[in-house]
Amino acid sequence: MRWTQTYIPTLREEPAEAELISHKLLLRGGYIRKLAAGVYSYLPLMQRVIAKVSQICREEMDRQGGIELLMPALQPSEVWKESGRWDSMVAEKTMFVLRDRHDHDHCLGATHEEVITDLIKGEIRSYKQLPLILYQIQTKFRDEIRPRFGLMRGREFIMKDAYSFDRDEKGRQISYQKMADAYKAFFDRCGLETVMVESDTGAMGGSGAHEFMVVVETDGGENTIVMCNKCDYAANIEKASTVEDSNNSDEEEGELQIVDTPDAGTVEEVTAFLNVPASKLVKTILYKSGDKVIAALVRGDREINEVKLANVLGGGVLEIADSATVERTTGAPVGFAGPIGLTGVEIIADLEVRHVRNAVTGANQNEKHYINANSGRDYHISVVADIRNVTEGETCPACGKGAIYFKKGIEVGNIFNLGTKYSASMGATFMDEKGEEKPFIMGSYGIGITRTAQSAIERFSDEKGIIWPRAIAPYELIITPLNFDNDEVREAAEEMYEKCQKAHLEVLLDDREERAGVKLNDADLIGIPLRMTIGKRSLQAGNVEIKARKEVKHEEISLASAVWRIEEMLSDL
Ligand code: ATP
Ligand code: MG
Repeated sequence: MRWTQTYIPTLREEPAEAELISHKLLLRGGYIRKLAAGVYSYLPLMQRVIAKVSQICREEMDRQGGIELLMPALQPSEVWKESGRWDSMVAEKTMFVLRDRHDHDHCLGATHEEVITDLIKGEIRSYKQLPLILYQIQTKFRDEIRPRFGLMRGREFIMKDAYSFDRDEKGRQISYQKMADAYKAFFDRCGLETVMVESDTGAMGGSGAHEFMVVVETDGGENTIVMCNKCDYAANIEKASTVEDSNNSDEEEGELQIVDTPDAGTVEEVTAFLNVPASKLVKTILYKSGDKVIAALVRGDREINEVKLANVLGGGVLEIADSATVERTTGAPVGFAGPIGLTGVEIIADLEVRHVRNAVTGANQNEKHYINANSGRDYHISVVADIRNVTEGETCPACGKGAIYFKKGIEVGNIFNLGTKYSASMGATFMDEKGEEKPFIMGSYGIGITRTAQSAIERFSDEKGIIWPRAIAPYELIITPLNFDNDEVREAAEEMYEKCQKAHLEVLLDDREERAGVKLNDADLIGIPLRMTIGKRSLQAGNVEIKARKEVKHEEISLASAVWRIEEMLSDL
């Protein structure tokens, strides 16, 4: 391809709208343009990257026996009502809902469990047709609360989603493992090292799930990965269990007292004022779950884990209570809620809370706290559960020996056991060998194609631009003639371009009559793994320069050997 015949609108200026390096580089490199929040055009270079990522994904899915199909993005509400997810998906607002001319509700596909279950139901009748793994690569729509970071969290994005159907638990485990293997191979081939971590099953239901994370040091890592320094435990913090600590349970119970805490509302302010450690304070946070108000209690030095809390409540939408609700429920402004005397509210406490003797808690009165508060004696806990985030340095919940540490990760894919959640609710059954009707045992498996592509940039770039892994680069080689207006340079460039095409290399010829500096900067910016530079000086010696984008040094090679050398270098990339 010739630069002047394609469309690569590189930008010199730093785009103000982007925070992440990968997002900036996608904009500057002329890969994407924004239409609306979380909605992007994929320009020609990006389209080539997407095609490559998709193709690798396809090959690895096929290798594990997956079969490609394409399902509708426009979906009638009926199938979602059948599975029982319509109301919650609408309430959650992540699904784009629309109405047709006959006033029938539809949505734009955010995921396809319902559609595929509806498709399979009635079509696949016998155990002899199982196992089955179907997948598609398609645009998904989600009205994300915070679309951001370019393609990382879009409202329209490309996903590979696969669904497995098995006759029994054993089969399901095999399908799950096949998908885990496919994912590992896929990310490896894309040049991305991933960690497979245990994850929460969230709105998908079912039991057991893993996510594939690209570990990054940047803000692009929206997930906290919990790891152990002794064993191979790895989990998303949303999921990672905590080990109960009952260290301070021996202290004598003191007398409950109300004390003034003027100008102290936050944990830091209250504990500083009362001169106690944050672990002595029991923090009370009010949530709304449907029309119920819930009080969640954790130690002052801990963070509530809303995913765990929502699971304790049986799923559904969980919202932090607004100040009006807090005032109505506690009779005090935000910052002074506490469990003592709190009525009409379910109190859910973290495992540690009942071990905090003589705690400080809010007194449900403005600028007042209790001291020496003890659960059981002074207030009643309705449910005790693990509802907090694990912290670094704590004991590993898996081996019980190692210490926990954190990494930041980008979730690029995940695999879920769905069990019979969708097949049972939607009546998708098959006949087993005894002639009995059984619901399919299902799994669901997603990869963010566009997120994966951007993650590669988040991992591999320098101050000059992108450094694509070869397998997913839009082109393998860029030919940069430094003075295209010079006859000899132009002729050599054209000759090399033709030879490379004959050798089936994916080559981009920068045939613009731009200054050498501009062309070199653009080549670095768009990140093609190899560059052949043709200038008057080296040409006089019958040579061209070849340089890998990730290396500092270039080498001079004769025109005659150039293509051979490029092929050799590419095979090492
Ligand atoms: P997240 O926790 O990041 O919102 P998710 O749990 O909603 O992800 P799935 O519904 O399982 O993700 O989707 C499968 C894959 O699709 C994810 O692993 C991710 O790579 C990608 N993905 C999900 N949401 C988006 C989005 N808004 N923009 C781009 N890619 C996405
Ligand atoms: Mg999501």
